[in-house]
Amino acid sequence: MAVTALAAMQELESYLIKYEQDIFTLSDRIWEIAEIRFEEQQSVQLLTSYLKANGFEIETGLGGIETAFVAKYGTTGPIIGILGEYDALPGLNQKGGATAREAFVEGANGHGCGHNLLGTAGVAAVMALKEWIAEGKIPGQIHYYGCPAEEGGSGKTFMVREGVFADVDIALTWHPESYAGVWNRSSLANYQVYFEFEGIAAHAANSPELGRSALDAVELMNVGVNYLREHVPSNVRFHYAVTNTGGISPNVVQANAEVLYLIRGKDIKEVEQIYQRVVKIAEGAALMTETTVKVKFDKACSNYLPNDTINQLLYKNLEAVGLPKYTKQELAYAKQMAQTLTANEIQAGKNDVKDIAGGHNIDEAFLQMNGPFLNIVLPYEQSDKAMAGSTDVADVSWVVPTAQCFTPCFVFGTPLHTWQVVSQGKTSIAHKGLLYAAKVMALTAIDLLREPQLITKAKLEHAAQTNGSYVNPIPAHVKPNMNK
Ligand SMILES: [Zn+2]
Repeated sequence: MAVTALAAMQELESYLIKYEQDIFTLSDRIWEIAEIRFEEQQSVQLLTSYLKANGFEIETGLGGIETAFVAKYGTTGPIIGILGEYDALPGLNQKGGATAREAFVEGANGHGCGHNLLGTAGVAAVMALKEWIAEGKIPGQIHYYGCPAEEGGSGKTFMVREGVFADVDIALTWHPESYAGVWNRSSLANYQVYFEFEGIAAHAANSPELGRSALDAVELMNVGVNYLREHVPSNVRFHYAVTNTGGISPNVVQANAEVLYLIRGKDIKEVEQIYQRVVKIAEGAALMTETTVKVKFDKACSNYLPNDTINQLLYKNLEAVGLPKYTKQELAYAKQMAQTLTANEIQAGKNDVKDIAGGHNIDEAFLQMNGPFLNIVLPYEQSDKAMAGSTDVADVSWVVPTAQCFTPCFVFGTPLHTWQVVSQGKTSIAHKGLLYAAKVMALTAIDLLREPQLITKAKLEHAAQTNGSYVNPIPAHVKPNMNK
């Protein structure tokens, strides 16, 4: 490591140590509050009041979204944007630190994707960067973006549509995971759309001939889409939830019913083509049942564009900071937690990290694990593959060169969106992962501000990738959560 890099890291450590406990408390509070998409008022209140008290200039209601905000520091130089999230998932409530499924309140919300850690690591990073900039060595501006509704709401895609990131030079973020590495792949684009059917109510026994069932239409639509699955590219995914069954009375012909579809494909063009076919199936179901159908667009997001220039920096800094060290107690807890994972889950984790490591053989690392943790930072390599999920970070990546890393916050193989993530999200293991990510993002921002030619390089790479072709996938009339 060069002397200057070592000095930057030591400086950073000295700044961060003052805020560590505050940041862990913020993360734990957000974990406890566990607010879901577009309802993150208390979490936003906690984050904005902390940042404001520490000298950041706050703007709330960003892009017309109540729970979106920006916290700014610095007046001149390139703008580095750090993206934070804080939304939970419905129904995943779980006792923190427990090694078995045990809800506090059955059915309540829980931080099943670790966004309590995600949002607060960004705060830790900007707190350290603020001090670094305040010393006046190099000009730079730091923006922390509070981004709501990553889960099922595409908050950032709405923010991009409203021009929120227009002045940002580079965007950095991370995601809690069960390993350390750099996000080298694309992700799937998606549309989320409600199909609301309307029929005619009738007595189901006395006069069924007078009724036209909206629930029948929903069922027929789902059958139609399940047949469509065979005739689409293999990367395409359909998921649906029946959001209105038409009531609880089997003796009434259901006059209203609604189904919410999530359609994923490799990019927006593919999703649009598949979506048009799904609309035909919905219209067919309405025709068959003599009902009518209303199509209500809910949200969308694009596929992710990785930026190699910034990814190289994230990788260098993941290596420079190094993996967290765990206490005996932490390792004992982690071993217990690892026993709750199935062999298939751990194998899926291995497949996932092999994809990130590309052509590098990491079999040795599986044999040399530190308890249930990998003992390496996954080697970085560009990849043409796409991960099967989606993220609204993708739309930011279309308008600003963007990069993201992962740090270990959970035992290896822990799948996201599970009780195990909720349980581990409030532990000292997760806090160590949060701090690791904060350091890596802050050091990467320092690298970029010190060597602005890297920003130019990242922008040239970005321009070649996008070729000025970006169109925001959410129609102008659609407001966040308008169909809820
Ligand atoms: Zn997530």
